[in-house]
Amino acid sequence: MKVYHFMTSRDLKSISYAFIVNDINIYLPDNEDECFIAEKLLCTECNSPWHTSLLECYFCGELNYYLYLCTVCGKKYSITNSNVKCSCGDSNSKLIKACVNEKCPTNTNAIIKNLAKEEKGVFDLNSTLNLSLTYCVKCGSTTNHYATFKIFVLNGRFNESFDLYLSNHPVFEGDVILFKNEIDGKIMYDYSIYDPKMNFEPSFKYNKIKQITDELFFHKKR
Ligand SMILES: [Zn+2]
Ligand SMILES: [Zn+2]
Ligand SMILES: [Zn+2]
Repeated sequence: MKVYHFMTSRDLKSISYAFIVNDINIYLPDNEDECFIAEKLLCTECNSPWHTSLLECYFCGELNYYLYLCTVCGKKYSITNSNVKCSCGDSNSKLIKACVNEKCPTNTNAIIKNLAKEEKGVFDLNSTLNLSLTYCVKCGSTTNHYATFKIFVLNGRFNESFDLYLSNHPVFEGDVILFKNEIDGKIMYDYSIYDPKMNFEPSFKYNKIKQITDELFFHKKR
């Protein structure tokens, strides 16, 4: 009979931190201190991460590459220090967060170009000339959804039977059970999306949490 030991809250913290490092959002459910919720906003078409923090140019849809452009000579800088002056030394020179698309009206149309200059560039923090991204950067789809899993973590230092564990914890079909074990001095992982009809035997084939988060969230759609 296999026996499992539930991880201490410290262990649970380190696993949930590994999820955060891999860019997955984490929160702890109310009244349950032995699992965490992992969540990620994904493109519904291709499962790529959906970047809500990205901005696009209102006029042409180009993304923000955090570049500064000299308003006189057009030289580009990837600096973040606004005190830096352009090497052209022109007294009218200003470095603005411009749209990088050379065909964008903010770079070609004199009136709009001037408007963008007054707003300190399309991508200035207070500029009204950008929008939050409304499409997937990979495939262009405009629909997204949250992929959400409840994650339970079991440690290889077993002292409780798996069946007993399941009867004592609110594990439901579709929840993820993540197994951790030390094998030949290395921490190895495996996981199962819980299905009460299936008998899962962990083989500890993963050595990084990233392999698991990639499979859970970013698996390619068939
Ligand atoms: Zn643009
Ligand atoms: Zn310049
Ligand atoms: Zn997509």
